[in-house]
Amino acid sequence: MNATMLAVLKENPAPGVTIKQIPIPTPAKDEVLVKVIYSSICGTDIGIYDWIPWAQGHITPPIVIGHEVVGKVVEINTSQDTTIKKGDLVSSETHIFCNTCYQCQINNRHICENMDLFGIGRNGGFAQYATIPLKTTWKNNPKISTEAMSVQEPLGNAVHVITKANVPGKKVLVVGLGPTGLCAGAVAKAYGAREVVGINRREYRKQVAKEMGFDRVESEIGTQEFGTFDAVVEMSGSTSGIQTALDASRIGATIVAFGIPKQDISINWGKYLINKELTIASVFGRRIWETWHQVTELLLAKKVDLSKIITHRYKLSQFNEAMKIMKSGECGKILLDPS
Ligand SMILES: [Zn+2]
Ligand SMILES: [Zn+2]
Repeated sequence: MNATMLAVLKENPAPGVTIKQIPIPTPAKDEVLVKVIYSSICGTDIGIYDWIPWAQGHITPPIVIGHEVVGKVVEINTSQDTTIKKGDLVSSETHIFCNTCYQCQINNRHICENMDLFGIGRNGGFAQYATIPLKTTWKNNPKISTEAMSVQEPLGNAVHVITKANVPGKKVLVVGLGPTGLCAGAVAKAYGAREVVGINRREYRKQVAKEMGFDRVESEIGTQEFGTFDAVVEMSGSTSGIQTALDASRIGATIVAFGIPKQDISINWGKYLINKELTIASVFGRRIWETWHQVTELLLAKKVDLSKIITHRYKLSQFNEAMKIMKSGECGKILLDPS
């Protein structure tokens, strides 16, 4: 069979992408082949598109990019016992673990020492078909909407962040309202936070945050509110956002770091870590598979409505236009339809 498919590739070590027909892949041993139904653009994909140093260090072109995906299983190449069947609607966990290193052995597979990344270190899902390792294939509950299935990654990250922040009964600050920050506010409410405040300067994101259930959204936190938040989740990665997180925290508060700064950050260690006795934790990805189960429960119970953060839809062939909107920040999640 010489069948081909449309795919978005990082074909050259340079900014931009190539959209073209390539052969439909064959699943290697212990992989599934899926027909992609939707994929969604992640903030990481902007860095890949622009070819920032992080992308240069993680990608060896040519590679099919895209890691947030839902698809229908059309082929399974394995002799292992598996509950995955042809026709199942599956998503891919981006962090492909090795299953043998120290972290994998102690059930920290999401921070595997030998991690590969779907759509970054290997071919991903901005295509009409994709292969996914069986071990990182998540079988979706068919009661969840197909669109929501494709944007479980930001929700999963948010669930992991908010679980670490231990929010029940607390006043919570979400710094930065990208899709994961928006989800974090909704999850904090669902998990029993007393009050959830978001910070972002963009009107567009503030509006979506209100729809996601934030109690209040501000452009910044005034000095009168410094030292009043029990838990702060830092989703922006910006220097000013990190400073706000430290100032807004109550003495003895917990900060969970998620946003990735573009440069080194310096903090007043004595003023914050010692005098305030802060607990600073961090999150990199979703716990496999605990977080995915939590995500499923939130979606089935309708405690988080992901349709509110899906603001744009494009055909896969319009990827460049979709990326323009993504970079403008005047959007939530953007879905790509490869049909
Ligand atoms: Zn992502
Ligand atoms: Zn490992």
